[in-house]
Amino acid sequence: MNRIIIIGGGLSGLISAHLLNDAGMDVMVIEKKAYPFHRVCGEYISSEAIPFLKSLHLFPSEYAPPVITKFQLTSVNGKAAQLPLNSGGFGISRYTFDNFLYKKALGKGVRFLLNTEADQVSFEDNQFKVRAGQSILNADLVIGSFGKRSRLDTTMKRGFIQNRSPYAGVKYHIRTDQPTDLISLHNFKDGYCGISQVEDQKFTLCYLTHRDNLKKYGNIKLMEESVLYKNPFLKSLFQNADFLYDRPEVINEISFANKKRVEKHVIMAGDAAGMIAPLCGNGMAMAMHSGKVLSELVIQFMNGNISREQLENLYRQRWKKLFARRLWVGRQLQHLFGAEWTSNFAVNLMKNVKPVAGYLINQSHGSPF
Ligand SMILES: Cc1cc2nc3c(=O)[nH]c(=O)nc-3n(C[C@H](O)[C@H](O)[C@H](O)COP(=O)(O)OP(=O)(O)OC[C@H]3O[C@@H](n4cnc5c(N)ncnc54)[C@H](O)[C@@H]3O)c2cc1C
Repeated sequence: MNRIIIIGGGLSGLISAHLLNDAGMDVMVIEKKAYPFHRVCGEYISSEAIPFLKSLHLFPSEYAPPVITKFQLTSVNGKAAQLPLNSGGFGISRYTFDNFLYKKALGKGVRFLLNTEADQVSFEDNQFKVRAGQSILNADLVIGSFGKRSRLDTTMKRGFIQNRSPYAGVKYHIRTDQPTDLISLHNFKDGYCGISQVEDQKFTLCYLTHRDNLKKYGNIKLMEESVLYKNPFLKSLFQNADFLYDRPEVINEISFANKKRVEKHVIMAGDAAGMIAPLCGNGMAMAMHSGKVLSELVIQFMNGNISREQLENLYRQRWKKLFARRLWVGRQLQHLFGAEWTSNFAVNLMKNVKPVAGYLINQSHGSPF
């Protein structure tokens, strides 16, 4: 039987695994960690993904994810505005959601190679060879769903990996008294911090900061006290919340650079194909959507209805049509954050020109798929 290897078991990889398995394909997922595990992510999923998840019986209703319908923005110096979110979203931790999708996939017969990092992929005579741990695995098709930055980006010599990126992400789970239906985004110098509720009355507090902030203060706690606390909303939140981990999850080198959708015949999905500015609220929905688009084409290819060249070209075209503009809008919105005057401007826009602010927020979101 023909085999598909999916490298990376985040949302794009897990959704692709479900869809391809449902279509009768032989699928193996290689994941360098073992579920369940925490990830740096704001954990707010825009509601465009709900109909799709429900259609696959993969909406995690048993965790009663909170419904989020309001958005609050505060500026670096603590000015605040609030808007209803047109489409809104729901909150669930990646610890729970990825594990839920993994267990369902395992139950259906998807094979997983966990705690194993793929570090080389080659393509010759219409066949892939994937080096993963001690094994060399053969495949007819490889999906690259290995996220924003992976060792494979280096071994595959992907263009964007040559440039360093100045952003780091930090995440905690906390208990606080923010309303259940609110997602708040608080600016601070050279960064911004999102807070919204997930399952079990926990909240995710996740922020993106420039690495210069970290360099200047030497450690996360001191940086938070010196930089984030200048926003009174963040100061009060940090001082009054109950932090549920000993230390936060941290990642470095978050890049929003343009990436190729197909590289050395590996079809990229999710962040490996291109990442929207975090906390725009839909990187996860886009990861799942790209897994869907890709799987539809892969099924046609594996059934012999389209050639490899057609698969690659059609995927590039569909990806561009669906996501290129949103990534661009996300990058532009990101310019409004992390500085005093631009974040004040954004708050004033939300207060005084609500339709324009609402329009901009909606432009970074997609339609149900
Ligand atoms: C600070 C921050 C906040 C964010 N907040 C939100 C938010 O609130 N809402 C939202 O929708 N999006 C948010 N995002 C974006 C969202 O997290 C991503 O868009 C989404 O996780 C992408 O899914 P993915 O499947 O492409 O990659 P991931 O979920 O990152 O999964 C990639 C997987 O590949 C594995 N892997 C990597 N390399 C290898 C290898 N060589 N071999 C085997 N396995 C490998 C990794 O272990 C990982 O499990 C945020 C991102 C950041 C950085």
